[in-house]
Amino acid sequence: MTATLLDGKAFAATVRDKVATHVANLKRDHDITPGLAVVLVGEDPASQVYVRAKGKQTVEVGMNSFEHKLDDDVSEADLLAVVNRLNDDPAVHGILVQLPLPGHLDSDLIINAINPAKDVDGFHVSNVGLLGTGQKSMVPCTPLGCLMMLRDHHGSLSGMEAVIIGRSNIVGKPMAQLLLNDSCTVTIAHSRTKSLADVVRRADIVVAAVGRPEMVPGDWIKPGATVIDVGINRIPAPDKGEGKSRLVGDVDFDSCAAVAGAITPVPGGVGPMTIACLLANTLTACCRASGLDEPGGLTA
Ligand code: NAP
Repeated sequence: MTATLLDGKAFAATVRDKVATHVANLKRDHDITPGLAVVLVGEDPASQVYVRAKGKQTVEVGMNSFEHKLDDDVSEADLLAVVNRLNDDPAVHGILVQLPLPGHLDSDLIINAINPAKDVDGFHVSNVGLLGTGQKSMVPCTPLGCLMMLRDHHGSLSGMEAVIIGRSNIVGKPMAQLLLNDSCTVTIAHSRTKSLADVVRRADIVVAAVGRPEMVPGDWIKPGATVIDVGINRIPAPDKGEGKSRLVGDVDFDSCAAVAGAITPVPGGVGPMTIACLLANTLTACCRASGLDEPGGLTA
């Protein structure tokens, strides 16, 4: 391996430390404790794991954590009533409705019912519009984490050629917007992109957010490029024993690491940054709601 390993686990710990310091200062100087409310509908095992991890880390940085667990047959009206109560609750500075929601619930309707100032996932249409026009917004956590790692590694990203593979609303599109705002030349590739390998070979920065295990091989990577692997895919690992599995990203790590200048691992890359950025967003939302200066370096 020749690439520098971008250690998201270590970076996320520094972000959490910074958040914890600011939270302690807010308490000491203003008697304010940031609060994050997470709403979980149903019993999806992956969502339960995420929500538990979010709650634990929220408390560890000194914030209040509020969990609302609802049955998977909850009506849209009842879920909206919970969101509205949280919107009105001054102790709640951030609201996150864990996605995906069961099929009978309209995710867009629910997300757009959240007060945009408390929308710490950054998915509300107002925040999407604010980000798109370069205004102060709540920034989606996963792309924010990627941006922080890229800025940390490169300093300025100005003029760099960035290719994002994936155009989802939660990763690909906001990532493109953030890199454009940082003056990269941005291409968004997707399942209909022609000659994807040639498109990716142009990139100084490759962000893979596809959901296809190890799809990007090393010979798509320009020598020295930075590779950010957002993918989290579980694949069978018979070498570890019968029925065992392992997590891999959307890039083939070994062949890409042999060519890239820097690369994020999976696990331990983008994943840990996502929750750290959720905590950062909650702190930012709290400072804005309280009319206080927001801490530097914790948003875009
Ligand atoms: P998504 O909504 O399923 O979007 C996937 C994107 O990949 C789509 O735009 C799709 O194109 C594109 N795509 C699919 N096959 C392709 C191909 N063969 N060539 C080029 N593009 C292709 O996924 P997502 O929610 O953005 O998540 C992407 C990955 O990131 C998943 O593995 C997910 O688990 C992971 N993730 C990780 C974190 C984290 O915290 N690390 C957070 C969120 C997501 P079309 O639009 O044309 O269909």
